Amino acid sequence: MSRRIFRYLAGTAVVLCAMFALLTGIVMTSDPSALESENVRWLLLGVAASALFVALGAVWFVARSLAAPIETLTAALERAAEGDYDAPPLTSGRDGPQELVGAFAEMQQQLKASVITRDYLDRLLSSIRDAIIVIDPNEVIVRVNAAAASLLDYADDALIGEPLATVVDKELKEPDEDNSSAKPIDGVFRRLDGSPVAVSYTVSDVLNDRGELEGRIVAAQNVAERRRVEQRIRYLARTDSLTKMPNRMQFQHQLQQAIARAKRTNQYLALLYMDIDRFKDINDTFGHGAGDTSLEIFAQRIMAELPEGATAGRLAGDEFAVILSGYERIETMTDAIASTSEALLAAIGRPFHVQGEEIFITTSVGVAYYPDDGDNVIDLIRNGDAALYQAKKAGGNCLERYSPVLNTAAVERLMLKSKLRRAFEREELRLHYQPKYNLASGRIEGVEALVRWDLPERGLVFPSDFIPLAEETNLILQVGDWVLNRVCEDYRLWQRTLPSPGRVSVNLSLKQLQQQRFLEKVRAIFKRHGVSPTCLELEITETTLMDDAERTIRILDSLYGMGLHLAIDDFGTGYSSLSALQQFPISTLKIDKSFVRDVAVDQDDATIVATIIKMARSLNMDVVAEGVEAQDQLEFLREHECDYVQGHLFGDPLAADGLLELLIEQEQGGNQYQALFG
Ligand code: C2E
Ligand code: MG
Ligand code: MG
Repeated sequence: MSRRIFRYLAGTAVVLCAMFALLTGIVMTSDPSALESENVRWLLLGVAASALFVALGAVWFVARSLAAPIETLTAALERAAEGDYDAPPLTSGRDGPQELVGAFAEMQQQLKASVITRDYLDRLLSSIRDAIIVIDPNEVIVRVNAAAASLLDYADDALIGEPLATVVDKELKEPDEDNSSAKPIDGVFRRLDGSPVAVSYTVSDVLNDRGELEGRIVAAQNVAERRRVEQRIRYLARTDSLTKMPNRMQFQHQLQQAIARAKRTNQYLALLYMDIDRFKDINDTFGHGAGDTSLEIFAQRIMAELPEGATAGRLAGDEFAVILSGYERIETMTDAIASTSEALLAAIGRPFHVQGEEIFITTSVGVAYYPDDGDNVIDLIRNGDAALYQAKKAGGNCLERYSPVLNTAAVERLMLKSKLRRAFEREELRLHYQPKYNLASGRIEGVEALVRWDLPERGLVFPSDFIPLAEETNLILQVGDWVLNRVCEDYRLWQRTLPSPGRVSVNLSLKQLQQQRFLEKVRAIFKRHGVSPTCLELEITETTLMDDAERTIRILDSLYGMGLHLAIDDFGTGYSSLSALQQFPISTLKIDKSFVRDVAVDQDDATIVATIIKMARSLNMDVVAEGVEAQDQLEFLREHECDYVQGHLFGDPLAADGLLELLIEQEQGGNQYQALFG
């Protein structure tokens, strides 16, 4: 349009100029003096003025038509700069030269795409519940999401440009060299007000096309609440709820540590094993309430009389024990034992009142010395117990030191050890299988293999009576191999009748895992029997896992890579934190039967079990409750959404053929325990 007007105006100016020239020519040739005429001068002046006016108009239009597209483009650029990419497209020619309009359109498209990506990323980041902090290679924060800002109490963008050290207490712990950032690391971040917050975090590198480090992403979870709950569980799991003393498990752990210390420093220690005389009479005469009060008073008096540095615990019912440690010479220790026991017996002997009744109690004490009477927890406790038995036999209210002749149990242990060596040739080992029921459906979805020893003169010997013996020697390796082979054989047999008999769990001991060529051995066993590793699960206790955690992680990663499932056995009895267990590729957590036993009657145990289930779920682990014996335990576990249950409520563990029958029955729609699941 403007170009047309310009042409029109320019044409008019040319015509007017031509007219002016023509008129001047005519006037000059016909009558030069006419120029002197007033009228002619005005006419020529008018034509010249019109031509000048039209020419100026043309110039104005030229300038205008050149400026308009620049203004349009500038406006469009300003809108784009403000993030508005939805303006109508420019038209080439009208809004500017074709190349410029084309380049602008392309730029507009690219900006729009990158903004969409950025908005999308922002939305993604802010919807992630983990706190995300992105840093550049110099550890300067370049981005944080809403969760990170809220975790650390900063305004949304306040951390950008700050060094990472502002919020991370120590240096970031580096992930392994294979950059397996999937494994969370425990750490502490700092809030704006300086307060610490416990986190579990991962670090991932961001590399550019050339493989150079462009930045790192730190993804963190607040685990403060989880740690608090964990500490509570551990406290409950280690403390006797009546006397608030260490319970048996914790006491044994403390004894183990004391022995290790004594070994290192070449010192002596003593274990005092105590038991209230005729405690049953107190219960029978005054009732259990009075019995409990007596135990509390007993515990308080022991604690009050202990010398500094001594440890006491309640091992069971009315059995208590004390560790006296740190003696360079045996004579000093004997003196300390004499004075302590004298004080203890005197304090305990003071009468007290319960429910208006005056009660007298006395106690017997058995003593065993480290290292003379035993150099490990099991032997010391056993020999302390044997000495206690002697003290009771001597009439009670006295102290006896262990003497080797007391111990017939030790002789039997030796005999058993030598017999266990022959058990393999004589084919005396058996495997029983305990079904694992899915709590929601009531169906058997797996079994646990449990070894037994069929000793002709004794009948079935249970693992607790020979696995520790086998562990002392290396016989446990042979037992372990036998079990794995046997499980595979049985599995093949079941598969002939049932396409998928479920997964079999096998218990693994520390020594097996410590073997040099354990992985090769396991692989060979599966190959030999033609059984897929996915059909098996290995059960490992917390203590075994934590023995040499780094090596164990490597082995377990390989086992997991083969397709094997891994479970933590007897959870709650060990000393690891759930966060520590997260580093292992474990998919199942088995709650120890000691917690399940009183779940329906003991508030502490109920809390432990409910919390373990919740925490395991948050870590995506399946939870199995062991040792379910009663319907009310099952109800409790169902209410708290435990996944699987095992226990005598569903009968005794079965031999391979008995289990097959049960599985076939289930396949045909029958299930004798279905009613229990409601
Ligand atoms: P575990 O792996 O925790 O196995 C569960 C134990 O609880 C088994 O004892 C089982 O019979 C018992 N149990 C199951 N349901 C109930 C119940 O309702 N109430 C009660 N009170 N107990 C129940 P078992 O067979 O005596 O085995 C004891 C431990 O010996 C096992 O504990 C495991 O640590 C170890 N063990 C068993 N078989 C093997 C094996 O093949 N190799 C290794 N290394 N250890 C084994
Ligand atoms: Mg087990
Ligand atoms: Mg167990």
